[in-house]
Amino acid sequence: MRTSDPLILGIDLGGTKILTSVINSQGEMLSRDHSVTPAAKGPEGVIQAIHASAERAFEGASIAMDRVSAVGVGAPGLADTEAGILYTSPNLPGWKDVPLRDILQEKFKKRAFLINDGNAAALGEYYFGAAKGVAHFIYVTISTGIGGGIVVDGKILNGSKGLAGEIGHMTIADKGPPCHCGNRGCWEALASGTALAKAARKQIEAGAYTTILSFAEGKIDKVTAQTVQSAAEKGDPLANQLILKTAYYFGVGLANLVNIFNPEMIVIGGGLSNMGNRLLEPAYQVAGERAFNQAYRTVRFVRAGLGRNSGVLGAAAFAFDEMKKELGKPDV
Ligand SMILES: [Zn+2]
Repeated sequence: MRTSDPLILGIDLGGTKILTSVINSQGEMLSRDHSVTPAAKGPEGVIQAIHASAERAFEGASIAMDRVSAVGVGAPGLADTEAGILYTSPNLPGWKDVPLRDILQEKFKKRAFLINDGNAAALGEYYFGAAKGVAHFIYVTISTGIGGGIVVDGKILNGSKGLAGEIGHMTIADKGPPCHCGNRGCWEALASGTALAKAARKQIEAGAYTTILSFAEGKIDKVTAQTVQSAAEKGDPLANQLILKTAYYFGVGLANLVNIFNPEMIVIGGGLSNMGNRLLEPAYQVAGERAFNQAYRTVRFVRAGLGRNSGVLGAAAFAFDEMKKELGKPDV
């Protein structure tokens, strides 16, 4: 690393964890600090935790804070990139209209840039991961919820206020189960890990025969997508049926994305993607049955390449991009 190499402090703020990293323009992570998000402490406690994590990241990279050029933060929820405001976040209780960008700018005395976590992960995959150089693709993360980012012509589709790309909240079933966003039948209310666990618990409570509980220490509140997966791997018919149902809804959403955006590639990340073909193959099949054949034939479905680092790398890439844009302006 040359000492003149620009560095960015990348922050991936999640509902359960905070990942901070000092990152260079090649996407190399010079350090990595992982900590638990003290979500119950509200914005102030969480911002303090970000600051502490960043200090450890600087220490890990053996650099002083003033060595970085800017801060890029990816945050869950409705993030207005232009105003730098996190309007609301399903995973962060108490966050309403928080000017996160300006708060971090003040704290670090550096330019800061805010982006939605799904869009950040998409950028990470675009610059450094599975979608390197792919001009039209969609990143989909399937875990406790469903999120993502849409890249059109090599650029994140931001919409008018940076709020576009909330793919997890497209309506799949108009009378479907309620979603925490206030709507019902959203993609993530039907096809996420949370939805899968909920469906399993409902069946168990109704007295269905299944071995799922034996993978959850016999406790219904410990039933998760993972325990359903474990039971399915051992041949539990109900577990397999529940995963197929999740795959079905996942595939319906994929078909919508294929028809609307005609992407070259759909990159799939998130914890549930680790179920692999048990979930993904049947989902791709459903997408193939429902999408326009001409569009479906040319789309490639690939697994994400950066794992848990896509968000933090993408937040840094976003900051690099924005800095470059500013340098390009004659009046800066
Ligand atoms: Zn929703």
